[in-house]
Amino acid sequence: VRVRLLGTAAGGGFPQWNCACPNCDGVRRGTVSAVPRRECCVAVSADGHHWFLINAPPDVRVQVESFRPLGPAGAVRGSGIAGVLLTGADLDQVLGLLALREGPRLAIHATAAVRHSLEVGLSLPSALDCFAGADWQVPPETLAPLLVRDGSRSGLAYAALPLPGRPPRYAADRTAAMPGDSIAYLIVDGTTGGRLVVAPAISALSGTTLAWFGDCDALLVDGAFWDDLELPRLGIGKLRATDMGHVAVGGPDGTLAELAPLPVPRKIYVHVNNTNPMLLDDSPERRAVERGGMTVGQDGCEFEM
Ligand SMILES: [Zn+2]
Repeated sequence: VRVRLLGTAAGGGFPQWNCACPNCDGVRRGTVSAVPRRECCVAVSADGHHWFLINAPPDVRVQVESFRPLGPAGAVRGSGIAGVLLTGADLDQVLGLLALREGPRLAIHATAAVRHSLEVGLSLPSALDCFAGADWQVPPETLAPLLVRDGSRSGLAYAALPLPGRPPRYAADRTAAMPGDSIAYLIVDGTTGGRLVVAPAISALSGTTLAWFGDCDALLVDGAFWDDLELPRLGIGKLRATDMGHVAVGGPDGTLAELAPLPVPRKIYVHVNNTNPMLLDDSPERRAVERGGMTVGQDGCEFEM
């Protein structure tokens, strides 16, 4: 399986348009050692022609333009995007679906809870139907072939790994979590056997989750916040990382301490919020990540398993 990181930042990107936190201000002025990042999106393919996007952030149009295989191939209109796999219904995971409305008709893989949120909160499925439309599929709980639009096999199999979650912030009809609000994906190459786990949003790590994360060749995992109080400390609102559905990277209970011991060859943080100090190449937090055998993902990074 070929894996391309199209975007590695959390919602808002890096720098975020309305943010002058030390990171955003520094990267804008060129006074810190860091590179800008687009919002989190991963593309995977077994054959290099049929690509599946994991989530569709608002800046997906720029991301598609950044990677030639996703554009039209030979035809006057077309796309290498064979489907979109949603991990949740947060705006930074789904708004790009509207940007992809022109066609071809989208194949969208989403749990019933995610589709419900999108319909009740945003009327997004109905809106897409006024354009090229979409075929909705519920991702399987056990490995099953991931099919391309014409029903043929992509060479990949996939499964949804359920995570603890919460409804998106725009959900007006409920405050309680539903199963399927948040998932990760296991993607397996049928030829090489390469196993990829993509988990851009994690609100808690359980023994079950760690067992899944430990059983793969590459793990792309939520790196939103370094610590739980990152935003309040910078004077950006009152929400903690956990209030926003993210377990922090640093600290004794953080994901770095839990994931560093896992025997996974590639462990990469994605969905990194612009306030996170590990975005700076020379920060102590970045050194701690690297000491733990992990890396901070960058846009354009590509690997094969
Ligand atoms: Zn910022």
